[in-house]
Amino acid sequence: MSIVEFKNVVKRFGTSTVLNGIDLTISQGEVVVVVGPSGSGKSTFLRCINVLETIEGGDIIVNGLSVRGSGAEVRELRREAGMVFQQFNLFPQLTALENVMFGPVHTRGINRAQARDEAKALLDKVGLGEKINNYPGQLSGGQQQRVAIARALAIRPKLMLFDEPTSALDPELRHEVLKVMQDVAEGGMTMVVVTHEMEFARKVGTRLIFIDQGKISEDGPPAELLSNPPSQRLKDFLQHVA
Ligand code: ADP
Ligand code: MG
Repeated sequence: MSIVEFKNVVKRFGTSTVLNGIDLTISQGEVVVVVGPSGSGKSTFLRCINVLETIEGGDIIVNGLSVRGSGAEVRELRREAGMVFQQFNLFPQLTALENVMFGPVHTRGINRAQARDEAKALLDKVGLGEKINNYPGQLSGGQQQRVAIARALAIRPKLMLFDEPTSALDPELRHEVLKVMQDVAEGGMTMVVVTHEMEFARKVGTRLIFIDQGKISEDGPPAELLSNPPSQRLKDFLQHVA
């Protein structure tokens, strides 16, 4: 079953064309790792999926809903896609528990008692059962990012989008976040992950996509593409991130 379908998608900022006719189908359970040079449109690609950016051409269908649909359709679509950002983006004035409860209470209309139980279970799952009453400022970057993952999972998305989730973290904190992402993947979640973590791509990714000059220039099994890059541009790129 396809969860995300790009049909000839064009995205421009002013006169600059960032996505230039992208076609792509992502099926349920795939863990798609997206790589590409800085400024190649990886964040834009993710942000178009949950309509943080609008597109100029083509269409994107997420679990049967179009990004070009009505306001109600787009609101429903956004609930299908949980997003995790490089800079965590937690609400600083809310505790970890309140951050995770927020979506279920405000967008899914779940009552607070149930939302609290679910949020506690999710924070336990990401290893933060002891920190539920901490504010983001009282947590390390790795812990904040794990709260952000729990918060995204709390809306029970069909799909999780990650935009360089470990890039803002010190190297020794990256592992704990990657481990949680691996657990989420092993739970069967469909994931699209922009990252430079090639070990994660190899170990957890089921598919690797190289975005270059507005197009998907490579698309295949991570181990194969990483061991034996078919193009000089991918080879050059991999030398930069290695
Ligand atoms: P990446 O995530 O691969 O580094 P981005 O998707 O952030 O790339 O950006 C792709 C291109 O689009 C860049 O040239 C960037 O400057 C441009 N861009 C991104 N967001 C905007 C925006 N809101 N307004 C204008 N240009 C933008
Ligand atoms: Mg980016």
